[in-house]
Amino acid sequence: MVFDRAVRGLLLLALALALNPAPAAAQLSTRGLNERPPTVVAPHDPQAPNVFGTSEDFQMVSLGADIYAAIRTEPLGLAADCNSVFIVDDDAVIVVDSTSGSARAEIAALRRITNKPVRYVINTHWHDDHILGNQIYEQAYPGVRFIAQTHTREHIETNTVTERQQIAVQLPHFIATLDGLLANNRSLDDKPITPEERASYESDTRMAKRFLLSLPEAHTTPPQISVDSGLTIYDGHRVVEVRDLGRAHTDGDLAVYLPTEQVAIAGDIVTAPIPFVGATQSYVTEWPATLQRLLAWHARIIVPGHGPILRDDAYPRLLIRLFEIISAQVKEGVKRNQSLEEVRKNMHLEGVEPAFVDDSPVRRMLFQNNVVYAAVGAAYRELQGGR
Ligand SMILES: [Zn+2]
Repeated sequence: MVFDRAVRGLLLLALALALNPAPAAAQLSTRGLNERPPTVVAPHDPQAPNVFGTSEDFQMVSLGADIYAAIRTEPLGLAADCNSVFIVDDDAVIVVDSTSGSARAEIAALRRITNKPVRYVINTHWHDDHILGNQIYEQAYPGVRFIAQTHTREHIETNTVTERQQIAVQLPHFIATLDGLLANNRSLDDKPITPEERASYESDTRMAKRFLLSLPEAHTTPPQISVDSGLTIYDGHRVVEVRDLGRAHTDGDLAVYLPTEQVAIAGDIVTAPIPFVGATQSYVTEWPATLQRLLAWHARIIVPGHGPILRDDAYPRLLIRLFEIISAQVKEGVKRNQSLEEVRKNMHLEGVEPAFVDDSPVRRMLFQNNVVYAAVGAAYRELQGGR
């Protein structure tokens, strides 16, 4: 039962919200678990030119045309911080997502690129891993303005605050659980720990401790600019489209597109190698249509909210397939009046699961939580008429 209690806290951290309260340890499959070396899941793009060297937390990479992305480098785990993007314009900078723990380091990296001030920070949604750093930007760049979708703005004034209070209570237990597992060489599903799991838990506890330390100082100014369907920033030669493409990860996701450079910034509409889904907050049945609108941009580069830079549409298409399969099966279950537990038990995801899990125990654990537990739960909520 170590798994239940630990994961509850973990997912609170990962998504900075009461995402997924209690996945069952029994759901953890051990199929295919063996002694092979772990799959490398370090989320940085080996093809990208490394501009500033790899920091402990992120690799700042150039996407060309004075656009830079800070791509996270910590191992895949339940604790996560987000990728950020820096769009350098004629006389100012536009930032997409401020991270929870790396804003200072990212601003330092940005200042090695340009001394232009940050004028706008676009928050793709309300979770703390995307907005907690806003206050650091306020200090560094007086006059900076924050942009978010209208629902996200509302959540920042309400849910963000209550989630932080819950996290403050739960994280110490989560940290103690993982520290205990590390000391005893055990995994969350009570097996001998693999090197991949060890690296993942160590990263999780480090991030959790840092997050906890930052909470007493945490405050978030509500965004001054709210977006319903979209807005476009014309700044010198630059065109930056900010769009609500539909509900997906939350009810207030924004994606950003630079049509001239064909760069899309997806927020958590796309996270790799496993989607981030909240059972009570995400919209799995609507997610495929939202992804189709993103793909209709025909971007050359897609920067996901978490994970490596994507240079083709294979992964978003895999996500579409996954969410369509889940939606169809949950719809059948609801039609037959099955309980959520029955629906989860009857799910058949064999056709897509290997593409996500790839024999990695960490990915398998995340797939169980984010997909089998959370995505199925979200689709069930939606198809029963819940919001
Ligand atoms: Zn996120």
